[in-house]
Amino acid sequence: MDQEQPPLETELVAPGPMPVRCRLCGRPLTGAASRRTGLGPACDAKLHPAGPDIRTRRHEVDQEALPGL
Ligand SMILES: [Zn+2]
Repeated sequence: MDQEQPPLETELVAPGPMPVRCRLCGRPLTGAASRRTGLGPACDAKLHPAGPDIRTRRHEVDQEALPGL
């Protein structure tokens, strides 16, 4: 039986740290977070604007008083 051989065309992966570029503006990224997201800080902020209600405390509803107390 023939054994399936893995393709040898795997030279696309370059060894070592390769420069990561912003996929939006193409600028080289240096920050670890930017490399992970593939976006520069500016472009990341553009795509993911921090809304005013992301981590702000909303009007908290008071705990309902237990009925029967
Ligand atoms: Zn960018």
